[in-house]
Parts: sequence; C-alpha cells; structure tokens
Amino acid sequence: MKNFGLNIWSNNNFIIEDGQIKLNYKCMPSLLQIVEDIRSNDVRGPILLRFPHLIKSQIRTLYSYFDKAIQQNNYRGSFNAVFPLKVNQFPHAVDAITSQGAQYNYGLEAGSKAELILAMSKTPSGANITVNGFKDKEMITLGFIAAQSGHNITITIEGLGELETIIEVAQECNLKVPNIGIRVRLHSAGSGIWAKSGGMDAKFGLTSTEIIEAISLLKDAKLLSKLNMVHFHIGSQMSDIAPLKKALREAGNIYAELKKMGADSLKSINIGGGLAVEYDQHVMSSARNYSIDEFSSSVVFLLGEIMNAKNVDHPDIFTESGRFIVASHAVLITPVLELFTQDYQEKLLNFKEVNPPLLVELIELNDLLNNTNCIEYLHDALDHMESLLTLFDLGYIDLQDRSNAEILVHNIIKKALYLKSSNPTDELAQLQVKLQERYLINASIFQSLPDYWGLGQHFPVMPLHHLNTTPLRAASLWDITCDSDGEIGFNPDKPLYLHDVNLDEEEYFLGFFNVGAYQETLGMNHNLFTHPSEYTITIDEYTYEIKNAVESKSILDILDSIGYDAEMVSSRLKSDLMKSDFITEQEKNDTLAKLELFLNQNGYLRTTN
Ligand SMILES: *Cc1c(COP(=O)(O)O)cnc(C)c1O
Repeated sequence: MKNFGLNIWSNNNFIIEDGQIKLNYKCMPSLLQIVEDIRSNDVRGPILLRFPHLIKSQIRTLYSYFDKAIQQNNYRGSFNAVFPLKVNQFPHAVDAITSQGAQYNYGLEAGSKAELILAMSKTPSGANITVNGFKDKEMITLGFIAAQSGHNITITIEGLGELETIIEVAQECNLKVPNIGIRVRLHSAGSGIWAKSGGMDAKFGLTSTEIIEAISLLKDAKLLSKLNMVHFHIGSQMSDIAPLKKALREAGNIYAELKKMGADSLKSINIGGGLAVEYDQHVMSSARNYSIDEFSSSVVFLLGEIMNAKNVDHPDIFTESGRFIVASHAVLITPVLELFTQDYQEKLLNFKEVNPPLLVELIELNDLLNNTNCIEYLHDALDHMESLLTLFDLGYIDLQDRSNAEILVHNIIKKALYLKSSNPTDELAQLQVKLQERYLINASIFQSLPDYWGLGQHFPVMPLHHLNTTPLRAASLWDITCDSDGEIGFNPDKPLYLHDVNLDEEEYFLGFFNVGAYQETLGMNHNLFTHPSEYTITIDEYTYEIKNAVESKSILDILDSIGYDAEMVSSRLKSDLMKSDFITEQEKNDTLAKLELFLNQNGYLRTTN
C-alpha cells in the first residue's frame, strides 16, 4: 500500500512525486512545502488547508454531468444547485463556494435561522436560496424578508403547520411572499449509514393525504401560484443508487399529479443531497455503487420518462449536494510528536564486559542477519527472547541484560520486516501487527475528525513525505486528548503502515484527507482543544499563496468562549505568581512573560514539533 490508496480516494487531486504528496494542479506544490512555509511563522499544532480550486472542480463536475445528461436525453428543464450550509458554514469555505460557484449561479441552502441569515448575507444576487428543516413563525417571516429583499427564495414545508404559518404571515403583512416547496414523505428509504431522511417513518415531509390538504389550503389562501417545488432528500453518503431511483419515481409522479391538480406554477424537483464521497483507502468503490455520470443520467432520464408518460412539462432539477462539493477541499495536517516504541533504539544498547551467552548469540544474530537467513535467524531470536525472559523471572539475568535483549530482538524483527517487505510471510505480517507502533499526533480527533469518533467514518490518511520508501510499521494513531476514544486503532482489515522515523532528527507529518464536509462545526472542544489553524491556499502556474489565516484559538479565548471571564483568569494567575518569592527580579519578570505567552498561545503541544 505504498500509495496509500491515492488512486481510490483522491480523484487525481493529488499525486506522489519525489517521495512527497503534491497537489496535482498548476505549479503542483507539495503539501510538506506549504506546511513548512506556514510553520516558519512559528505556527504549531494541527493545520487545516483549504484548496478553493478543488471546490471549483467539484461544482464544475456536478454541473457539467447534469448538462451533458440534459442534452443527451433531450430534457427540457434546467439544472440548478444550491450548497447546503450545514455541511460547512465556515467563512473561508463559504466564500470559496460562493465565489467559485458564481459563474454557475450556484446558491445556498439553509436549515436553521442562523443559516438563513448567513444565506441572505452570502448568496450572490439572483442565485437560489432554499430553506429546509423545522421552522417557526419567526423563521418563516425571515423567509418573507428575504423575498422582499430580492432573494430568489423557496421555503420548503416539512409539515402542514408550517404551511398554515406561511399563510398566516402572508395575511398579516404585505411583504413579498417567498416561493413554497413541499417536502414529500417517501415510502422508499435511502441507503448508507445516514439513511434516516427517507421512508414512511422519516423525520421530515408530508404524506400524500397531507399534500392534498396542502393544495387545498394554498388554493383557499390564493397562494397556489407560489408553490414551485417538490423536494425530497433521502440521506447523506448514499451507497446505492437504487433507492434514489425509487425516490425519483415516487417524487416525479407526485409532481406530475400535482400539476394535474392545477398546481400550474410548480416547476422544479429538488432531489436533495446524498451524493457520496470515496473515503476508502483500500477497496475501490466501496462507498458507492454508482458514478456521477450514472447518477446524473439516472435523474434526468427518469424524470423525463415520468413526465413524458404523464404528458407534463419537464421540471427544472435542483440538487443540494454538500458532501460531494466540499469534502475534498480540506486537508488536515498533524505533526507526529512521538513514536512510542522508539525506546528500542540500538544506541540505547549498553553491554557489559561479560554478557549472558544467549545475549551474545542475539548480538551475533543481529549482526549477521541477511536476506537468505533472516527467517531462520528471526525464529532463533524469538526463541532466545523467550528463554531470556524466563531467566529474568528466575533471577539469573538483570534488568540491563533484559533491556539489551529487547532492543536486539526488536531490531532483528525490524530488519527481517525490511528485508522481506516486498513479500512478507504470514508470520511476519502477524508480527508486524503485534509490534504496532503508536504515533502520537498533535491534534484532537474530537475536534477535527468527529465523524470518526461518532460514526467510525474512516478518512484517508497518509504521510506527506518519505513516499519513496515502503512504510513497515503497523500504525495506530493517538491524539493528545486524555480520552481513550481519541485513538484510531490499527485495523488489520484496513491496515495503516507508516514509516519508522527518528523524530529527534526529523519531523514527520500526516495528512487526513476529504475532511471538508461536516467535520468543522461538528468538532467539539473536548479537553478545550480548539479548531486547527486554517489557511486558504490558492495555486497558479508559478507559485502558490497562503491566505485567510485563522489561527487556533488561544487558551484565554477558548476559556472566554465557554463563558469564563478571561481577564479574571489571567489576573488571578499573574497576581498569585507576583505574590510569591523570587530570588531575582529578572526571574520574576521572565516567568511573568512566559505565563503571558502561554495564556495567549493555543493549547496544542509545542515540543520540537
Ligand atoms: C444534509 C442535507 C443535504 C446535504 O446532504 P449531502 O449528503 O451532504 O449532500 C441536502 N439537503 C438536505 C435537506 C439536507 O438535510
């Protein structure tokens, strides 16, 4: 697995060259170089890099496949997309989305009041806003204010109560009435671990009886001309396309029926999000059984077919794919702080004048091990180790002898693994798993990979460098929270092997990929670790630029954000220190300065890394 599954998950966005992972775009900077640039300004801790060009290529892909399908199927509706803000509301992500999407008239979707306010402030004029989720009268009134302010907004109702509120607000004020969409409750459910948004027991949507009721309410209120959209969303990270096709048939027929019932202004079907992202590093296409090509063709073909059969005009198609658009744009980079079995370094060997005979044999095995004898010598070494441990228990050898033996045996195993790396025996593979190395990463899984913690979602991970040597250490990753859940254990079914590096001599960085969707706002400040320092990287033919720096919150800021009076914390610490006795005035001032610095730095570790 020398390329860490790059061919599976990276969609050609990255390549390996000269042993480093690089952006496969324009001047092709290496991630390591970008990270070193950033860290040369004394930034420490995890780093989140955003690449707007990867958002652009996803938006372009989505539109171009749908446009192609529309042409091929002689489809007469248009294609439109909005970005669901819940997938990433961070300013530099949203700015990249709206600027990269401008030429497509790409809009925004909101699922809460705060997101609606954000959509109203960020949607380019003329682009669509759709609103989903549960709404109160205030949120509906906000929708009227958006319409009044010139936004092209559709409020999708999740239940009849919301429609009654819309009618009430329309009757109470003279503001422009927003367009109205109906979310339909499908009898077909979605697939994948997030498939809770479809099906008869789904949290959202109107049943067919309620839809009929809705039409008559709209007619009575003379608002039927505002009904413009039928909406469904069958859940995120759809693994299978079959449920989508069922949902399309169902929603398409509901649409056609509504047209026949006189809903003349109805003109679009919104198929929600759910387009899946490949997170797997080991097996191709395990996350989904369809391509974007098949997805877009199926949607366009099926809707065309249903409308043709019922003699209804083709509706405009809306999608709200979020994960697909932004997952790839962000990469989390974490320095490795420690390898826990590095105590087994040869330089720590400390022999005596006279060593126990078995230890002398181990020294010879270690010296003479080569490609032809390595399996035999390995067996001998493991055997000797057993015997030496028994001798230790019986009191015949001392702790120094035992330590020497452990170092030698580890070394022999490592050498054997290395010599046989292109063709390891089963025994070696098992030894490798047993001798797992634990890599301590300067990051919090709770903060930066919450879906790993909460759902077991795997994210592709690989080192940024050393990629021209085969990694041999079976790796588990530990974060710096003091919580045992902050660990990505070694999984023999999806093994991660990393390099054996000496961190005293060099740094070692890991990248987690496809982390641009959902992770940032779901991330939590467990142990009071805050968001990683983030940067936007724009790349052109000759160089790249690092923009929009947002450093991790300082310790005082994070305390402040959960409600402490940071000023009080700071002055208490300083006054306690001032009251204590110092031998020299200089030392007092130096210590105060240190304290001041610590309070204003982020809480990630600042060892050499
Ligand atoms: C969450 C959500 C989406 C986005 O789903 P993705 O899987 O990220 O594409 C779209 N529409 C609605 C209504 C949602 O709730």
